[in-house]
Formats: sequence, structure tokens, C-alpha cells
Amino acid sequence: MAVDSTLSSAVGASVSEKDAKALQFIEEMTKNVDSVQERILGEILSRNANTEYLKRFQLNGATDRDTFKSKVPVVTYEDLQPEIQRIANGDKSPILSSHPISEFLTSSGTSAGERKLMPTIHEELNRRQLLYSLLMPVMNLYVPGLDKGKGLYFLFIKAETKTPGGLLARPVLTSYYKSDHFKSRPYDPFNVYTSPNETILCPDSIQSMYAQMLCGLIMREEVLRVGAVFASGLLKAIRFLQVNWKQFAHDIETGTLNPKVTDPSVRECMSKILKPNPELAAFITKECSEENWECIITRIWPNTKYLDVIVTGAMAQYIPTLEYYSGGLPMACTMYASSECYFGLNLKPMCKPSEVSYTIMPNMAYFEFLPHDDSSAQDSSRDSPPRLVDLADLEVGKEYELIVTTYAGLCRYRVGDILRVTGYHNAAPQFRFIRRKNVLLSIDSDKTDESELQQAIENASVLLKEFNTSVVEYTSYADTKQIPGHYVIYWELFVKDAANAPTDEVLSHCCFQMEESLNAVYRQCRVADSIGPLEIRVVKNGTFEELMDYAISRGASINQYKVPRCVSFTPIMELLDSRVVSKHFSPALPHWTPERRR
Ligand code: AMP
Repeated sequence: MAVDSTLSSAVGASVSEKDAKALQFIEEMTKNVDSVQERILGEILSRNANTEYLKRFQLNGATDRDTFKSKVPVVTYEDLQPEIQRIANGDKSPILSSHPISEFLTSSGTSAGERKLMPTIHEELNRRQLLYSLLMPVMNLYVPGLDKGKGLYFLFIKAETKTPGGLLARPVLTSYYKSDHFKSRPYDPFNVYTSPNETILCPDSIQSMYAQMLCGLIMREEVLRVGAVFASGLLKAIRFLQVNWKQFAHDIETGTLNPKVTDPSVRECMSKILKPNPELAAFITKECSEENWECIITRIWPNTKYLDVIVTGAMAQYIPTLEYYSGGLPMACTMYASSECYFGLNLKPMCKPSEVSYTIMPNMAYFEFLPHDDSSAQDSSRDSPPRLVDLADLEVGKEYELIVTTYAGLCRYRVGDILRVTGYHNAAPQFRFIRRKNVLLSIDSDKTDESELQQAIENASVLLKEFNTSVVEYTSYADTKQIPGHYVIYWELFVKDAANAPTDEVLSHCCFQMEESLNAVYRQCRVADSIGPLEIRVVKNGTFEELMDYAISRGASINQYKVPRCVSFTPIMELLDSRVVSKHFSPALPHWTPERRR
């Protein structure tokens, strides 16, 4: 079919009719960014005109950008907390959205230690589905033949709870996998997974992982791509194989499923897939029993063309490990999304991770951008009203904070992501994900900020009081050299009475106390074994002074020097590690249940 698509012509690919339509849609959206954005804002404002929230700002029926920008404030989650709480408590009046809130999506971003609750409406599923439907047509331009095999994707659902008013609260992907959009998706040869729905929808994550990995092993020759949502998830799967390969080999040899998998629907679907295959069992035993796991992904799944995982943002720390396990396979970061709203996709998915840029689709929501100037380090919401820039008016090379106005009723909401414009596709800017604001430490989906770390340290140091000991200085490090990664906290202590110094037991308990103080997402990741036990490394007295001397020798100003609360620069790590006098680990899992603490 003749296709008028700069995307396909750029790579000279011939495309199917279905893909051509999707590419055409991307072209249309990216060529008409500004008019699409104007239309989307108009639609959102007119349908939500009678909401309590918008009425407060007296738009008087106006749906244009100027009125909207002059009257509606830029807000954070905390600003919306009262409205969100009322909806959670069961108030069904149109508070934020004229359409009923269908459920809350629990973000990995937290507020007061608990996951943020993002309101959503039923039709948002269609918008998410639309973005998903654009991914393979773009990928097919770069990787031919993906209809000739399967994708081994490790996908999971997570615990869900109900709010006091009875609305479901669960992660966005759990909501999507449990929806008919996913469960009853029509057959598409380009999107065939090795994991049957039953294995993805199994609420026990260990049984789910076990069954998904077993399917991947059985169908190893058919696998053309291996993926998970984030890099940390794929590495967790590799670690699971490392720990459980003997059981897998046994199951495959005998054609019987491990009795620890008890979920009836998983057992039933696996009974159709699992047949005795001693040859495959011997192969798995041979590959996995080797000490060296370099290239294990390509050894077990030899036809893999690329890894489909997000390795941008906080996940970049996993690139070297993934390269090691995959022998340098390309890593495709296909999309950029959040619980608030799905944003966009990567139009060059086979590019290097360091070059990934996402193109925001202007039909997903109304997007504005707050120029981000790190040097002034100001919180612009406190100064004069911030000047927000529209999607069509951004400057290449500049950094911005992303602000969204969604159909579900978030108005001028600060997502907290900092993005840099790297160029344009047609009239649509493309963005490098720079970082999430205020995140100090992250291993998996956890995000710990400076004040949370400070509070955790204060809580833990209470245990040192009876030993006349205090924490003089501290810093931290996200250690991802091993899977699962873990938080390392360097402590310099002031011990008044050496004869009564805190013991290893006390310091281990401090580790536990810190974990108990960290937010719900951290504690959930710990309980799910996605994060290892927190470690305190006590360093010699004077170490932090040396750290300062080092920074000053590299040009830091003495007046302005502040101890970095998180470190990753190799010479600094080497300095710290060479001064370590003792190491202590958290001895137990912190408390976590799906129920919120407040
Ligand atoms: P959540 O609300 O828990 O779904 O988390 C959404 C956040 O994850 C976004 O606001 C980003 O900070 C981060 N994120 C999502 N997609 C990407 C991506 N492709 N690259 C980097 N960070 C991402």
C-alpha cells in the first residue's frame, strides 16, 4: 500500500495496511500538534465545565487557552489532596471530572509515605490502548519479521485495595491487564506473548513469575524479543532463573508442574503447554549450571532480536548488567507513561539508550511546560505565577517540567518529571527524560527523596541515644551491582564512650528502623524481593571532611559546600569504601500491607 508517512519513508520500510494507518495517525498528530492541543483543551474544559473544581475558577464557559492559563492555578498532588480524599471517601458528585471516577490508579510517586491516588475515568483505557497500538507499527519499521515468533514478556498484576468509598485502587498496569482491552485483545501476529493471560493475571507474583519463565523456556526457539516494563523487572526474572533453574529443568524433563504452583487456572493452562522434553531439560541444565552467566539471554533465547525494557531515567543504572546478560542486544525503550496519563512513544526504538527521545502524542491530554532552571533552584510556584509554555512552542536544548491537564480532571498538574527537548518530529517536540524531581534513591519503582531519607535517619538514630552516640554525617548510594539492588547508607558516628559503643545488633536494628520509616513503595518492593536489605556502612571519623576536601580540590566553593546526600561518582565511592570500619544489614522485612497507613 502506498503510504504517505515520513516515518516509513525515512527507513524505507514497506508496511502493512494496519501499520500504515497507525503511522499515518502519528504523522497527523505530530504535524498538527498545536491545533490538536487546542481541541483537546477545549474538549476537556467544556465537558468538565460544571465540575466543582473548574467552577471555582470562574471560567464562565470559556474553553480557550488564554482564559484557562490566566485563571486556573498550577497544582501539585498535595493541593488536590482534599478533593481526592472526598472522592476516595465516596463523594460521587462531579468534583474533578464530569464523568464518574471509575477507579484510582496508585502511583509509584508517594505523598506522606503512601502511594498517590490518581483518579481515572473508564474511557482513559481507550487512550492508553491507542498509545499501545502505535508501538508495534513503529517497531516493525526497524525490526522485520516480528510476526514470525513470540515476545517473552514478564508482566505482573499487583495487590489492589478499595478506598473507604468503595473505589478500586491499584497500579495502572494492573488495571490494564485486568481489563477486557487486554484480556480479550484480538489476535495480532505481531503481538503474541509466550505468557498466557492466566499466568499474567495470577495474583501470586512468585507463581506468576514461575509460570511465565517456564513458558519462556519451553518456547525458547520462538522467542524474538524479551522484555518487562522496566529494566529492574527483567533482571529480577533473570535472577529468578538463576535461583530456580533446577526446578524448571525438572518440570520440563518430567512434564509435570512444580506443586508449589497452586493457582488452579495457571495449573490448567500450563497442563496444555508442558510436555516431557528431556532434551530441553538437559540444555537448560547445561547452560544454567555454568558459573558464567554472560550472554545467558541469547544462549537460552537465541533468536532474540532486542530487549524491550525501559532503561531511561532511574533505570539507566541497569544498562551494564543487561548488556552483560544479553551480549549487547539493543534495548528498546518504547514508551513514556504514568498513572496520571500516558504521554508518548519513542519513534526510533532501536536507538542507543543514551539517545532515546520520546514524542508526546498531543491527543493524550493537554500538556504545558514549566521552564526548568536548575541554577536558580527555585520553586517557581511560590514566586510570581509561572509562565508555562505550550507543547508546540518549546525550544530545543531547554529543560522543562511536565504539567498535564487530563480528561479525568487533573488540571495543570505537576507530574514532577524534568524533560529536555532534543529536536522535533514534524511539529512535535521530542524529549529526553532527564530525571524525576526530588528523587535521591531508586532501585525499582521506589523513589526516596531527601526528606524521607533524613527522617528515616532521624528515626534510626533514636536507637543510638542510649549508647551516647549520634550520626554526625551521612550519605547514601543505590547499589545495583547485585540483583536485587539495595540502599547503602554511609554513617559517620560520634561515639562518646568507646566502651559503650553500639553493637552490630544495634546497628542492624538501625537498618531495620530506617526501612520501617521509608515510604510504602519502598517497603512493598522490599517485601516483594525487588530490593535487598538496607545496609549501613560506618566510616572512620573524619571521612566526610575528606569528602569535602576532595570536592573543594575539584572546584567546589567552601562557602557553599553541602554534603551530597546521595553519591555515585566512582572516586567518591572509592574514598568512602576505603574508610569503612563496619557493615550492617537489616535483619528483617519491613512492615507492608496493601492497606494504606492513613
Ligand atoms: P507511575 O505513576 O508509578 O506510573 O510512574 C510514572 C513515572 O515513571 C513517570 O512520571 C516517570 O517519572 C517514570 N517513567 C515512566 N516512563 C518512563 C520512561 N520511559 N523513562 C523514564 N522514566 C519513565
